[in-house]
Amino acid sequence: MGEHIIIKSESQHQAMRRAGELTGRTLNYLSTLVKVGISTKELDEAAYEFIKKNGGIPSFLNYDGFPGSICTSVNEQIVHGIPSKKVRLKDGDIISVDCGAIVDGFHGDAARTFLVGEVDPEVVKLVEVTKECFFKGLEQAKVGSHISDISRAIERHAAEHGYGVVRELVGHGIGSNLHEAPEVPNFTSVRMGRGPRLVPGMAIAVEPMINLGTRLIEVLDDGWTCVTADGKPSAHYENTIFITENGPEVLTNPD
Ligand code: MG
Ligand code: MG
Repeated sequence: MGEHIIIKSESQHQAMRRAGELTGRTLNYLSTLVKVGISTKELDEAAYEFIKKNGGIPSFLNYDGFPGSICTSVNEQIVHGIPSKKVRLKDGDIISVDCGAIVDGFHGDAARTFLVGEVDPEVVKLVEVTKECFFKGLEQAKVGSHISDISRAIERHAAEHGYGVVRELVGHGIGSNLHEAPEVPNFTSVRMGRGPRLVPGMAIAVEPMINLGTRLIEVLDDGWTCVTADGKPSAHYENTIFITENGPEVLTNPD
């Protein structure tokens, strides 16, 4: 991702609305398919068909060689899980589905963690708080704020619950590229400082990745799948948002 933050025009804003709308709608559709016994490959195929049928292109398919239209990350998998015929959802699982769609040359990017059957209340809480973290960050996404205001709000809310906040993976600018400047971390640090100031026309993907245990991660031998080092569950919640004078606009249909 380049250093330069690309400010979008009004017509580009409109295109991003269309891309975001399809991305959010695809996730809503997938939520109806998530159940005990379905494979993550079947979810991937359903996402591909849905995006194509509605005039979009899956953002993730072949991105850096990624072999799916969605990322499907189950339980201790944090992000970038590869859809597989061999992975069938079981009662008590959680599955994070990350989805992107291109419409009129612009990307939408969003993720949800879904519950499968009867999930441990401690894990349900993790999923709920991860979503709350996004909305805490969203409240800070005002013109004149800095990126670190979003980061701090997310980090604080997760810390209140004693959860680990993933540091190796971060949110990002988005537009005609899936990943653009600036980085949008879910934590703060002296090294990163306050980050860029938010201005109208910026589009960013805000995506807390929150672990029930420690923040530490590992990458599996497939070179993609990020998992928690302690094997405890992790949740992910993401929306693409557009900064306007009147506040942030969520483009990817939050439920
Ligand atoms: Mg994503
Ligand atoms: Mg993203």
